[in-house]
Amino acid sequence: MGIALAPASRVAVLRERTPIVTTLCSHSSLQIFHGARAEGLGTLGVAVGKPPRFYEAFPLARPDRFLAVPKIADLGRHARTLRKEGAVVVPTGSFVEYMGPEAFNDLDVPVFGNRKVLGWESDREKERDWLEMAGVPMPRKFADLSSVDGPVIIKYYGAKGGKGFFLAKSPKELGDFRPTGPYVIQEYVVGTRYYAHFFYSPLSEEGYRVRHGSIELLGMDRRDEANIDELYKLGAQEGLRQAGIRPTFVVTGNVPVILRESLLPQVFDIAARIVDTSVDLFGGMVGPFCVEGIVTEDLQFKVFEISTRIVAGTNLFPSGSSYSDLVAPQLSTGRRIALELKRARTEDRLVEVLS
Ligand code: AMP
Repeated sequence: MGIALAPASRVAVLRERTPIVTTLCSHSSLQIFHGARAEGLGTLGVAVGKPPRFYEAFPLARPDRFLAVPKIADLGRHARTLRKEGAVVVPTGSFVEYMGPEAFNDLDVPVFGNRKVLGWESDREKERDWLEMAGVPMPRKFADLSSVDGPVIIKYYGAKGGKGFFLAKSPKELGDFRPTGPYVIQEYVVGTRYYAHFFYSPLSEEGYRVRHGSIELLGMDRRDEANIDELYKLGAQEGLRQAGIRPTFVVTGNVPVILRESLLPQVFDIAARIVDTSVDLFGGMVGPFCVEGIVTEDLQFKVFEISTRIVAGTNLFPSGSSYSDLVAPQLSTGRRIALELKRARTEDRLVEVLS
């Protein structure tokens, strides 16, 4: 028996009832519902206002039913019913962000994965401490503006999507920086970005082992980010600045990528360290997570961020990726979640994967 994340009372009903995979109608919901349906689980889409029409276009990924709430904050009022019905909430970036990490944490419905991870992910300093403890290579951090000695990226706390980030090619350019909230200053790493989609199972005893369980690599993408990714078309940065155009990193889509095979040992080692340290710190980052890094020209993978739940880049692979095809056929991250849930139920280990 491994580490219990949930009290037994919270998951008791799921021994008798088929789990109903429940998530917000956004982000990676199509893939999550598609995977749950493929594994014979129930599905419930939480919609704010009217359920979105786009599900009509995707019959294999439509949830069995919708729960429409006027505001996402109202979901808490349905907790008792959801629990009784056997709902299991799958957190996504949108779900947690719209609801707020605190309200999400207080939701009295079983959540897939460890809800304690939210506190570690939403605070950039705490996340850095975790990664440093894991001994993972990261971009340098500057304590203050006066210590900057090269190109930097200045990120605001919680500014997911990278709106308002500030780039400076040299300390001189920092004169233009007008902070609008708490921020961190990071070395701007020049290289190529990769977003590696992993899954940590505390139940598995096969494959790439970590201290408790094992990890799988299920896919990889690169994010399309507006307007930075296309700015080069307008020419040099100086001119852009003069024209009042500032780079932003708002994600608009994703493209599949594959890593040089010789870099896989580095990425697996990094992912395993992050998972092992998460077990020591808060009982483990169970389920899907994403290691986001930049590979430099000397082939060093530097981690600038981790996402501690399913990322939208996994939507590229509803029927498998170049990596997951080598684990099992037709294995999306959504389906992997459903499989873990089923296994935990069969082995009576639900408290280890739900919180
Ligand atoms: P984040 O909010 O940390 O995920 O960063 C948003 C985006 O900013 C990333 O997807 C990258 O394109 C870019 N970025 C973040 N950190 C760095 C870094 N240290 N060096 C270069 N680009 C970065």
